Amino acid sequence: MESKDVFCSNLMDGTLCSHTERQQPSSPSVIVIGGGISGIAAARTLCNASFKVLLLESRDRLGGRIHTDYSFDCPVDMGASWLHGVCNENSLAPLIRCLGLTLYRTSGDNSILYDHDLESYVLFDMEGRQVPQQLVIEVGEKFKRILKETEKVRDEHSEDISVLEAMSVVLDRHPDLRQEGLAHEVLQWYICRMEAWFAADADMISLKAWDQEDVLSGGHGLMKQGYYPVIKALAENIDIRLNHRVTKIANWFNKVMLTVEDGRCFVADAAIITVPLGVLKANLIEFEPKLPQSKLDAISDLGFGNENKIALRFDTVFWPNVELLGIVAPTSYACGYFLNLHKATGHPVLVYMAAGRFAYDIEKLSDEAAVNFVMVQLKKMLPNAKDPIQYLISRWGTDLNSLGSYSYDLVGKPADLYERLRAPFGSLFFGGEAVSMDHSGSVHGAYTAGVMAAEECRSYLLEQHGNLELLQLVSSEEIVEATVPLQISRM
Ligand SMILES: Cc1cc2nc3c(=O)[nH]c(=O)nc-3n(C[C@H](O)[C@H](O)[C@H](O)COP(=O)(O)OP(=O)(O)OC[C@H]3O[C@@H](n4cnc5c(N)ncnc54)[C@H](O)[C@@H]3O)c2cc1C
Repeated sequence: MESKDVFCSNLMDGTLCSHTERQQPSSPSVIVIGGGISGIAAARTLCNASFKVLLLESRDRLGGRIHTDYSFDCPVDMGASWLHGVCNENSLAPLIRCLGLTLYRTSGDNSILYDHDLESYVLFDMEGRQVPQQLVIEVGEKFKRILKETEKVRDEHSEDISVLEAMSVVLDRHPDLRQEGLAHEVLQWYICRMEAWFAADADMISLKAWDQEDVLSGGHGLMKQGYYPVIKALAENIDIRLNHRVTKIANWFNKVMLTVEDGRCFVADAAIITVPLGVLKANLIEFEPKLPQSKLDAISDLGFGNENKIALRFDTVFWPNVELLGIVAPTSYACGYFLNLHKATGHPVLVYMAAGRFAYDIEKLSDEAAVNFVMVQLKKMLPNAKDPIQYLISRWGTDLNSLGSYSYDLVGKPADLYERLRAPFGSLFFGGEAVSMDHSGSVHGAYTAGVMAAEECRSYLLEQHGNLELLQLVSSEEIVEATVPLQISRM
C-alpha cells in the first residue's frame, strides 16, 4: 500500500516508532473519528490552528445525525432539524448568521417540553374528530401541574425513579389531576411529546435529571434550508476519508494507531473520538489498552434513545395550515404526530415522528408497511388524505453508524458521568453530542463538545511537543464573526 501522508501506515507489525520517526512531522498530527458536526468542528478547530488533521468517517457521506435529504426537490432533515435556542449565545449562531440560513421559529418558549406553541397545532382522536382546543389547553395546564408536583416526589426520594413512576405517585395523591376519556388521551399526547424530546419512554427518563438541562433562550427554530449547509461550510478543505470505518484504536508511547475495516492503519500523535454513544455501547471499536472502567461505566450509564422520521411528499396540500397535526390515544405509545413542513418551508411535505420503543418497532417494518401504518394514522385524522408521491424513512436505531438517535439521562444517572465520558485517555480525546454536559442530545452541544475536545487535544500536544509559539489558534468565532442578525420567520 502506498504511504501518501503522515497518517498512512502499512506497518502492522508494531514498528510504529521507526515509522513515525521517519516521517518527522513538522506540526502535530491528529485523527478525528466521525464526520458529524462534532468531529468536523474538532477538525476545523485544529486545522485552523495549523495542525495536521485527518478525519475518518464510516459512512459514504458527511453529517452523521445531520442528514439533509434533497430527493424531494427540497431539503428534508431526517436527523436534526431544529436549532434549540435561537439566540446569540448559541455556539452555532455566528455560523448560521454568516451563511445567511433562515430559521422558522416554532416556539418562543424555552421549555424543553413545548418546542411548538400551543396555538400552532391541532389534535384529532382515533375517530378523526378534532379535539376542542380548549380541552388541549386545559389538559396542558394539568400536565404542567403534574410535572410541578413530581418535584415534591423527587425531594422525598433519595434514590432516583422514572418520570412515569413519579407521575403515577402524583396522580394517586391528587385525584383531581387524573384525566378520563378524551382528556386522558390528550394527557397521553403530552407524555408522547415529552418522550419525543428525550427519544425515550417516560419509564426510562430520570426524575432527578429530566429538567436540569441548561436550555438556551430564544425558543426553537427549524432550519428552513436544512442543516447540511452548516456541515458543508465547516468541512471545507479538511482532509476527509469517507467509507473509513475505524475498528481498532491502539494508543502506546504517545502515538495512536487506528485500524479501519479493510485492515489499513493510520498513525498520528492523538485522536479525537466523536462516534455516537450507541457505537461505543455496542463495542464496535476495540481499544488497546482497554478504556478505563470509569469510562466504560459512564458509557453504559448514559441513556441513548431512538427517534425516527417518515417523510411524505404529496402533490397537493390537503391538510390544515398548522405546524403539527397530532393524534391522541389511550397510551402515549399509540399517540402520534406529523410536522407540517409546508407551514415552515412552503413544500408539500409532512414528517411523521416516532420516539422510544415505538421508534424501534417502526424500524422492524418494511418501507411499505411503515408508510402504510403512517397513512392509516393520517387518514384517521383526515379521511380524504391523498397517497404520497415520495417517501423517506430513517432507521437510526439499527444503523451501525449510530445505533440510536441521541443521549438522555437514564434513571439513576451518576452525577459525574459527563466528566468521565469526556475525560481524555492517553492521547485519546472524546467529543460528540453525548459528552456535552449542558447541551447533550443537540447539534449545538455536539459542536461545542467537538471544539472543546480539539482545544484540549491542542493543549496536550503543544505541551508534548514543547512548541507553544509554533501554532496559532484561530478561533471559529473569529472566522464567522459577523454583525448580521439571525434570520427568523414565522408564516
Ligand atoms: C431523528 C433525530 C432528530 C434530531 N433532532 C434534533 C434537532 O432537531 N435539534 C438538535 O439540536 N439535535 C437533534 N438531534 C440530535 C443531533 O442530530 C445530534 O446531537 C448531533 O447531530 C450529533 O452530532 P455528533 O457529531 O456528536 O454525532 P454524529 O452526527 O452521529 O457523528 C458521528 C459520526 O461518526 C461516524 N461513525 C460511527 N462509527 C464510526 C466508526 N467506527 N468509524 C468512523 N466513523 C464512525 C458516523 O457515521 C457519524 O457520521 C436529532 C437526532 C436525530 C437522530
